[in-house]
Amino acid sequence: MASEFDLIRTHFADLGAHRGDVLLGVGDDCALLRMDADRELAVSIDTLVAGVHFVPDCDPCDLGHKALAVGLSDLAAMGAEPLWATLALTLPAADPSWLAGFCRGFGALATAQGVRLVGGDTTRGPLTISVQVHGSVPTGAAVQRKGARSGDLVCVTGTLGDAGLALRLALDGESLPEALRLRLDRPEPRVGAGLALRDLASAMIDVSDGLVADLGHVLAASGVGAEIDLAALPLSPAVAQARDWALPLCSGDDYELCFTLPPDRQGALSRRPLGCRWTAIGRITDSPDLICRLPDGASWRSEHGGYDHFGNQTGGESGP
Ligand code: ADP
Ligand code: MG
Repeated sequence: MASEFDLIRTHFADLGAHRGDVLLGVGDDCALLRMDADRELAVSIDTLVAGVHFVPDCDPCDLGHKALAVGLSDLAAMGAEPLWATLALTLPAADPSWLAGFCRGFGALATAQGVRLVGGDTTRGPLTISVQVHGSVPTGAAVQRKGARSGDLVCVTGTLGDAGLALRLALDGESLPEALRLRLDRPEPRVGAGLALRDLASAMIDVSDGLVADLGHVLAASGVGAEIDLAALPLSPAVAQARDWALPLCSGDDYELCFTLPPDRQGALSRRPLGCRWTAIGRITDSPDLICRLPDGASWRSEHGGYDHFGNQTGGESGP
């Protein structure tokens, strides 16, 4: 009978891409990693808690994918290249088939994105997953939240509101088209787009808590406002059919990128492949407000922003 430690080593010792900059990976007290002298390290950690971010009996393969994807989305939002990950797992029991499924999802995404799992920690307790991701950017080149200027275009990748619609249908017990379910359970971090935008975007963030909330962070950090044209929002047919602006504006978990673009860089952006669609949805303004303009010209008022773990909202999943 394998010990818990054997089990962990079996599953986590060889996960993700092989990288020459990993001098020592899983197995010692620390990992030893080599960084290029002319680059900066970008680090981010996210925690997924059973019952808060996912239902405890969800597919472990999806969970492994998503636990890494949300971190890679943060790296994408800085224009960072993913390198390494560490994984802190709290498990109610060491269930080999659950661990195998989790590692299949985590490992496939890690390999696809060139990421190596280099260490972690494993404890017993209520199911909780923390993934720290490490990426690199050329010195001084990271795209921060604070760079938006009046007159810049506000743009987003992909489509908005799909994960929110999937969650709503799932909670209502309605059948979920597979493509929509994947938007919620297996988000694809926009790593390639983030890298391609690094020298073009003036500010960038990933949309994990909803466009209004996340764009709001960019506006606050940059000391500007924005006017968004709701008719320009990129919506999938399913979200368009739902006819509820709260889906693309306030629901979380989409993991698209929202970025601002100086207008004179529009041509350069249109010549650069991002690997996904992108859409200009509005403009940065001098006023501190975020105004969402309805197709009839009136302004849309939100009753709530994005998900706030310590706010008054009840229930449901959320972006970390
Ligand atoms: P220590 O007691 O020194 O922290 P551990 O027994 O916790 O060592 O871990 C032994 C090795 O296994 C370390 O290299 C650690 O990084 C790795 N490890 C433990 N749990 C995980 C995990 N969930 N994912 C990846 N590596 C892990
Ligand atoms: Mg430890």
